[in-house]
Amino acid sequence: MVSFHPDSKFLTDFAAGSLPLSEAVCVAAHLEFCGKCRAHVQQLSDVAAQMMVRLDPVVDDNDGFESLMQRIESSDPAPAGQVSNIAAKAAVSATGIPRVVEKLAGGSLQNLNWVKLGKSLRIAPMDIGCKSRQTAIYDIKAGRPMPEHEHRGEEITVLLKGSFSDADGKYVKGDFVVRYAGERHQPTATLDTDCICLVSLEQPVKASSWWYRLMEPFVQYRLSGFSR
Ligand SMILES: [Zn+2]
Repeated sequence: MVSFHPDSKFLTDFAAGSLPLSEAVCVAAHLEFCGKCRAHVQQLSDVAAQMMVRLDPVVDDNDGFESLMQRIESSDPAPAGQVSNIAAKAAVSATGIPRVVEKLAGGSLQNLNWVKLGKSLRIAPMDIGCKSRQTAIYDIKAGRPMPEHEHRGEEITVLLKGSFSDADGKYVKGDFVVRYAGERHQPTATLDTDCICLVSLEQPVKASSWWYRLMEPFVQYRLSGFSR
């Protein structure tokens, strides 16, 4: 069951169409797992749409989820009313991966350019045209730890498949986890299945283990190579 949700600022900015693209994709992915947040965004969108209609009577309030997908792909902010049908239509695809993520990956996560980092981890950068943040899919092998690392900026992780734990707790499919600059942790995938996460990074993480420090220039090169 989903336990960690975006706070109201994320949801309000998302409903208003003002959240930067990389974060908007994370919120959209969470919404596909979480009826509670979908209902919250629906309410916010309806209020915003009513305000927009008062300001401009030609606003189209009926475009729904497909238009949100187009907006996310084009990075083009849309009137808040265009996301108002999310609650009725959003749901993960048959593969269990959120549709917004599969769409941005060109239909399947297997289409992405995966970079293997040791035996535990592989990373696929996603070029979604967002300049301010790096967006990527992480795949952590079942039962294996990621290298311990410290964050230089905010990191959002949305669990798409499997689960992981760190010193603060256990996180499962659909959870929206935010880490801030200076926080240090070492996620470990649980034993039953590989853990696949959508990650949005404000700044590259600072390595705190010798292994990751060795790998860091390579990771940053690959990530920045795809996102800029
Ligand atoms: Zn939620």
